[in-house]
Amino acid sequence: MKIFLDTIGCRLNQAEIESMSRQFRAAGHEIVAAAEHADMAVVNTCAVTTQAASDSRGKIRTIARAGVNEIVATGCWTSIQPNEAAALPNVRHVVANDKKDLLVPEVLGLPMESFEKEPMDRIPIPGLHRRTRAFIKVQDGCDNKCTFCVTTIARGEGRSRPLGDVIADVNAALAGGSKEIVLTGVHLGSWGQDLGAQHLRDLVHALLRETDVKRLRLSSLEPWDLDADFFSLWNDKRLMPHLHLPLQSGSDSTLKRMARKTTPDSFRGLVQAARSIMPDVAITTDLIAGFPGETDEEFSETLNFVREMNFSGGHVFTYSPRPGTGAARMKGQIKLEVGKRRNRILQAAIEESATSYREKFIGQTMSVLWESTTEYGEYGWRMEGWTGNYLRVSAIAASPRWNEVDDVMLLAATDGLVQGDILL
Ligand code: SF4
Repeated sequence: MKIFLDTIGCRLNQAEIESMSRQFRAAGHEIVAAAEHADMAVVNTCAVTTQAASDSRGKIRTIARAGVNEIVATGCWTSIQPNEAAALPNVRHVVANDKKDLLVPEVLGLPMESFEKEPMDRIPIPGLHRRTRAFIKVQDGCDNKCTFCVTTIARGEGRSRPLGDVIADVNAALAGGSKEIVLTGVHLGSWGQDLGAQHLRDLVHALLRETDVKRLRLSSLEPWDLDADFFSLWNDKRLMPHLHLPLQSGSDSTLKRMARKTTPDSFRGLVQAARSIMPDVAITTDLIAGFPGETDEEFSETLNFVREMNFSGGHVFTYSPRPGTGAARMKGQIKLEVGKRRNRILQAAIEESATSYREKFIGQTMSVLWESTTEYGEYGWRMEGWTGNYLRVSAIAASPRWNEVDDVMLLAATDGLVQGDILL
C-alpha cells in the first residue's frame, strides 16, 4: 500500500510519525509525499489550542477530498474527542494516544511481534514533513497538572521509554544518515523517574557515551526538572547550546493559578546558572497571554520579566480554554481581543531580544545543518538550516547541500534570518 503520514503540532507528533514510517516500511509498504497518491493516510492530531484542534479536522477533510478512502485518526485531539474524529469523512480507524504504539500492526492486522526486531534505518518522510533532524521520542504523558494544559489529559500519566530502545532508535537514525538527533517527549525532563529514579542527565550521558551522535539537541524542558549541575552536560560540545524553557508567565500569582512548579525567582536562577556555564547559550521560551484572571499589573510583571530574561526567541500563545482543564472553569476569563493585544506586546518584546541575540554572532563562523534547499536560478541553490544555538541561517550554494553540515561565515541578520557565506 501507499501510505501518507501527516501531523500537526509538537515535535513528539513528528517523532511518532517517523517511527510509524519505519514500521510501515518494515511491513513492505511505501511512504508517499502527498495524499493524492495514497491508499491510506494517518493523521497525528493536536489539541493544544482551539486553532490546532480545528486545523486537525481540516487536515482530515482535505485528505478525504484528495481521494484517500482509509484514514486513521490518532493524536491528542482524536484522544479527547474520539466520536467527532470517527464522524469525519473516510475515517476508518480511531486510535487514541495510549494505543498509538500499536497503531501500525492494528491497522495492518499484523501481530505486534513482527515489529519488535531492530528498527530499520531512518529514511526521512517524503513531502512536507521531510526533516534532516531525527526527532526521537524518549518519553510520553505527564504527571503534572498545569491548569491550562490539555496534553496531560490527552496523553495520560508520565512514562519513559527504556534506555535500550532509545539508543536503538538513535542508532537507526544515525545509520539512516541523520546528522542531528532531537530528543523529545511531553515532559522530557521527567525521563527516568519511573525507571528507578534515573534522570534525563543519565540518558544524555549514555547517548553521548554509546553512540556516534555529532549533534544532540534537547526539546522543551520544564524548568523545575533542572538544577545548576544539569548544565555541566554541555561541557560536551556535541550537545547543542540551546535550552527551550517554557515560562508561560512572569507573574508569581499567575503562575500559581496555572499550577506551575516554578517562580520568577527560581526561573531567573536557572537562567543565570545556564549562562554562567554557556554565556552564548540560546534560551527560548513559551508564554501564555490572557490567562484567566490576568490583571494589568500581572501582565506588566510578565512583560518586565520577559525583558529581563533576554530570550533568544519564543512562542506566545493567546490563552484558549481547553475542554476538561481547570483553567477553562476559572472565573475572570479574559476577552480574546485583550489576550491578542497582550500577545502582540510580548511577541514584540521577545523579537527585540532575539534580534540583538542574532546580531551578537554576525562576523563569526558557525556550523550549520542544512534543512531545506530551493533552486535559485542562475545563483544555484538557496539553503536554510540551523546552527547549534538555533539561529536560522540562509546561504547560496552551487549545488544542493541538504543534510550537510557546513561552516558558514555569518554576514547579516534580517527578519529572523541570518544570511551567511558557506566556507567550503
Ligand atoms: S508540564 Fe504542564 S504544560 Fe507540560 S505537559 Fe505537563 S501539564 Fe502540560
